[in-house]
Amino acid sequence: MLARLAKAGRALTAYDILDAVRAQGLRAPVQVYRALEKLRGEGLVHRIESLNAFVACAHFRRRHEDSVAFAICETCGTVSEFAVLATARALRTRTRRSGFVTERTTVELRGRCAACVGKGSEAGA
Ligand SMILES: [Zn+2]
Ligand SMILES: [Zn+2]
Repeated sequence: MLARLAKAGRALTAYDILDAVRAQGLRAPVQVYRALEKLRGEGLVHRIESLNAFVACAHFRRRHEDSVAFAICETCGTVSEFAVLATARALRTRTRRSGFVTERTTVELRGRCAACVGKGSEAGA
C-alpha cells in the first residue's frame, strides 16, 4: 500500500487505494482506512485534508508530523511535501498568546508545479 502511494506521486483517496490493493486481499474500505491510519501513526503517510486523500511521506521515517506543507498542483495533481519547521514554530508562538495549544500544523498550497508552469508558458509563447 505504501509502495503504491509512493509511486503515485500524487494524493490518492482511500477508494483509489482500495482499487489498487484489491489483488492483495484487502476488499473493505474499512480495512484500507485502518491500514492508512496505522501508516499515519508511524509517520509514513500524510492525509491531505482539502482533498480527503493520502500521500506517502517524502521524509522516510523522519518525524515532522506537526510541521509540514503540501504544494498541490491543480493541473496535474502532483503533491510535493515540504518540512516547514520555522513556519510552524512561528504560528504556534502566535496562537499560544491567545491560549490556543497547537498540536499540528498542516499548510496546503494550491497552484501549479514546475512542469505545468513550463507547459503553460510554452503554450503562451
Ligand atoms: Zn512527511
Ligand atoms: Zn502540475
